[in-house]
Amino acid sequence: MAATAYTTCPLCEATCGLELTVGDEGQVLGVRGDRQDVFSQGFICPKGASLKALQADPDRLRRPLLRRNGALTEVSWDEAFAEIDRRLPPLLEQHGRDAVAVYLGNPVVHNLSTALYARVLLKALGTRNLYTASTVDQMPKQVSAGLMFGAMLSVPIPDVDRTDHLLMLGANPLASNGSLLTAPDMRGRLRKIRERAGKVVVIDPRRSRTAEHADEHHFIRPGTDALLLFALVHAIFDEGLETPGGLAEHTVGIQTVRALARDFAPEQVEDACGIGAEDIRRMARELALAPSAAVYGRIGTCTQEFGTLASWLVDVLNVITGNLDRPGGAMFPLAAAAQSNSRGTPGHGRGVTFGRWRSRVRGLPEVFSELPVATLAEEIDTPAAPGGPGPLRALVTIAGNPAVSTPNSGRLTRALESLDFMVSLDVYVNETTRHADVILPGPSPLERSHYDFALYQLAVRNVANYSPPPLERDPDTPPDWETMLRLTAIVAGQGPDSDIQAFDRFVAMQAVQREVAMQDGGLHGRDADEVLTALDGRRGPERLLDLMLRAGPYGDAFGARPDGLTLATLEAEPHGIDLGPLRPRIPEVLRTPSGKIELAPEPIVADVERLRAARTRTGNGMVLIGRRQLRSNNSWMHNVEPLVRGKERCTAHVHPDDAARLGLADGAPARVRSRAGMVEVPVEVTENVMPGVVSIPHGWGHDVDGIRMSVAREHPGTNSNLLADETLIDPLSGNAVLNGIPVELTPVA
Ligand code: SF4
Repeated sequence: MAATAYTTCPLCEATCGLELTVGDEGQVLGVRGDRQDVFSQGFICPKGASLKALQADPDRLRRPLLRRNGALTEVSWDEAFAEIDRRLPPLLEQHGRDAVAVYLGNPVVHNLSTALYARVLLKALGTRNLYTASTVDQMPKQVSAGLMFGAMLSVPIPDVDRTDHLLMLGANPLASNGSLLTAPDMRGRLRKIRERAGKVVVIDPRRSRTAEHADEHHFIRPGTDALLLFALVHAIFDEGLETPGGLAEHTVGIQTVRALARDFAPEQVEDACGIGAEDIRRMARELALAPSAAVYGRIGTCTQEFGTLASWLVDVLNVITGNLDRPGGAMFPLAAAAQSNSRGTPGHGRGVTFGRWRSRVRGLPEVFSELPVATLAEEIDTPAAPGGPGPLRALVTIAGNPAVSTPNSGRLTRALESLDFMVSLDVYVNETTRHADVILPGPSPLERSHYDFALYQLAVRNVANYSPPPLERDPDTPPDWETMLRLTAIVAGQGPDSDIQAFDRFVAMQAVQREVAMQDGGLHGRDADEVLTALDGRRGPERLLDLMLRAGPYGDAFGARPDGLTLATLEAEPHGIDLGPLRPRIPEVLRTPSGKIELAPEPIVADVERLRAARTRTGNGMVLIGRRQLRSNNSWMHNVEPLVRGKERCTAHVHPDDAARLGLADGAPARVRSRAGMVEVPVEVTENVMPGVVSIPHGWGHDVDGIRMSVAREHPGTNSNLLADETLIDPLSGNAVLNGIPVELTPVA
């Protein structure tokens, strides 16, 4: 007889509740949205429904692979770990800890095990060479939030359920389902803004699905969002519309921003942006005069040369219009289980510090302990300078595919081939892991427990939802956290046969001690031993999660607040718990040394000069931008047939005027060339893209030797990151520039 199980979709930031129908033999018979889910209320997108096909995918790895005589061969877990133990520690011994790099892919954050245990592995490894997908995505927003509010995840979220006016730049939530904005069913939420006579304005070089559902859309020349945003700031000050209200007493730097904005009058930037000065001034007025309003910028505003400036200006607008931290504005969620760096003494903190070390070749600063992934290839393929440190020798990738997801994929692919050793934790042999010496697969997403502790820190409502694994895990496949602890034991020099449970208790004790240290006099009067004892009966990520929940703002405080949350409370509520709408949190949320909102942080002010020089640019060549697609989840879901069937989706969108000028025909291939590389891709002529802009979605390019993704190979598409230039970055965040890359287009003869 079929059974019903509930879980949270682990594929994107929307955290939709899923209802699974499970057959007698553990097979998934159906997936649909959980109508009782307190947050998503039945919403589901095609990706969530495809988890059934992912579960059944015969290409998904179930056993470790080890390279023998050049070929990846299935082996036992013990053989795989023995090989890692044989090869990795000697490399560390001979070349030092920094000779090994780690790359964390986007799915790491959607997996409770990897999200909590990656840091354990990194600490034991002791390398300064950490790379993640954040520097091809949202790092500029985290940098601006860190500098303004004091913590990397203190990112204000548009209160879409109550706002009267939403101005979105570089965001396409109808395809992405929200990003740095956890909000299932964004289409429905946007529709409701309009139904209550509010207004939705979209700024994007493409007329995206989101733009089609907005009241107003403006094309903008790629890479000029910061100019437009500064012009809006200018117009608001110019017309005396600034109304920070109660925020003023909690903010420093307003006059500095006012002075900086003088150079960015709408009339000075209109040619560069492609949006007329009158429209800019009207948009500024409507934003400032709306009863409530929120400005929201996402990936398009981050993956560009002025990413941090654009991210900062989004929140400058939210502050000077008085919309930060009030209902209907941009607000700070209060998650039930928060990361420790957003905890600490309410109202002030140490703020953020960057550049504690630098990349070896280009000398770029670390940001939140990461180096820009745009430097990964050069860190492998550039020999040591005389007397200087050597290149990377080994790489550990966890749920990542940098060979497709990061700029100048061609160079990185060649670099990966030259490594002495590579280990990947992944469920596919993909464009990256095909280079690995050992691949360690994990349980499928439906064989894992789930709690989105990172994403609930970015949610439009305060919610909490824990799901135990809806399907039984193959007993031969260890949970990811155990795999990561065995790797940790290896790099710590203790070998793969260490007592993992003892190791895990040690990890839990360290986490408890951190919590205790954050609260003078112990955790609600209990010392670390007492707290750890209270968590007995749980292990792995569940023990750490229970700790975070119980010590968190809604927690039971280990008995001090008997009605408070524990993991057991969430286990009894399979559809989640609604903790209410977002509430004002200033000044308590601030962690800056001044205890204020830093509206004009020094590193950002220093970067404005670079933007000033860009005011007179009027691009005359073609530039490349990306494109988010509803049925794509970056690169890794293209082996799921329901998501790739139908007409070719990896196409180059070109405006009809450009197509005519360049001799390009709809459906025919074009050759696209940049400084970094060249690809051929079919053209789709459409008025939905701005003249002068070509749009190619990322995550494709599965036509390479050695991958074991049979469905993806039949729908390979083209890797747009072969064109992205690894030398172009946003200097403050190290984020790659993936939008606004100069390219040439020619027809394929
Ligand atoms: S919107 Fe995201 S979380 Fe929801 S079903 Fe789709 S992929 Fe899953």
